[in-house]
Amino acid sequence: MQKSLWLKTAGTAAAITLAATTAAQAAPAPADSMSAAAVVTLRYDDSRAAGWESAIAAGVASWNANIDNVELVEAAPGTRAEIVIVATTGWPQAILGPVRPGGQVRVELGSQAVSQGYNKTRIAAHELGHSLGLPDTKPGPCSQLMSGSSAGTGCTNAVPNLTEQARVESLYANRLTALVPADGRTVVDAR
Ligand SMILES: [Zn+2]
Repeated sequence: MQKSLWLKTAGTAAAITLAATTAAQAAPAPADSMSAAAVVTLRYDDSRAAGWESAIAAGVASWNANIDNVELVEAAPGTRAEIVIVATTGWPQAILGPVRPGGQVRVELGSQAVSQGYNKTRIAAHELGHSLGLPDTKPGPCSQLMSGSSAGTGCTNAVPNLTEQARVESLYANRLTALVPADGRTVVDAR
């Protein structure tokens, strides 16, 4: 119906555009759908997380250095991001993923945890872990990123352990996450 309307109102130019679009849709799948490049890119927006930028950068770097199936990249200003990070005065919290490309989850980096003495980079990395689909594993040791505050204020580890890494790799393996909706629960890291 829309097709015929275009053709009727805009004539040849629209017909050419339509033909080009159809050709593009019929083109073979691009190489990035092959297993060799099965990396899911997720963009994050920290434009409303003032004061947390370096902690977020370090948390992101930790994830990117330790997992292969996902890459976190900063969203260009004003563009849509899968992970929206904001600074709050409450406790850190996050919507539990795994967030899929085109989906959206929110991370709140709360200053209350910082005033209690918790490490900002660990907080950022932990909340990003929720975005990637990891639940809390509390209580737990400092070596577990998702043990969060239960590891105490002296814990500064921001690196997911091998089990946590494997879980995220599995959730995003072969881009299957594109078919799985985010969990959607909000996980509050209050203590
Ligand atoms: Zn948590």
